[in-house]
Amino acid sequence: MEAQIARANLIFSGTGIAFTLAALSTDGTLPAHVRTRMERHALGASLTPGAIHVIAVKTLHDVDEAGRFRSGVHWKVRGSAQPQWQVAAPARSTLPCSCRSLLAASDVPCAVRPHLIILAKKADRDVLAHELGHFFGNRVHDHTPGNVMSYVAGEADVPVFTKAQVQRVQETAACLVRRGELVPSTQHP
Ligand SMILES: [Zn+2]
Repeated sequence: MEAQIARANLIFSGTGIAFTLAALSTDGTLPAHVRTRMERHALGASLTPGAIHVIAVKTLHDVDEAGRFRSGVHWKVRGSAQPQWQVAAPARSTLPCSCRSLLAASDVPCAVRPHLIILAKKADRDVLAHELGHFFGNRVHDHTPGNVMSYVAGEADVPVFTKAQVQRVQETAACLVRRGELVPSTQHP
């Protein structure tokens, strides 16, 4: 995990955002092999806002294609059985910071779906950074080799974000902090 975070910090260095390991824990009740959507949702059941949750598993099955395995995924927890997070509602104009109570007064808490990153054992060193790219607002892939959000490596050692992707990362980070979903670390220099 430390190596993945170090790589993510290198890749995110141009965004003004850095990551620290807040806590590392082992939960023997979590499945080592995550096969279905329901199993992915269940991983989010006990998570609380305040940090980026990365759950490491042995294998992560593709939920659309049988027999295919993924290295990682940014996953939004759905389903009525899953608790949502109550977060501070942002002002109406702060898109992409919208949430359910967007039409309510801006100081009314709103419910958001928990989201997490699942990382498989086979993940290579840049997978966490890629999933963090999704976490911070970049939903789609970029097919340019060497882009962080591409599956194809480029010639450079360190994958890069486009200017628009950096902006999305920064806007999303500001939103998540404002909502209390993320708490900036005071320990990082
Ligand atoms: Zn992706």
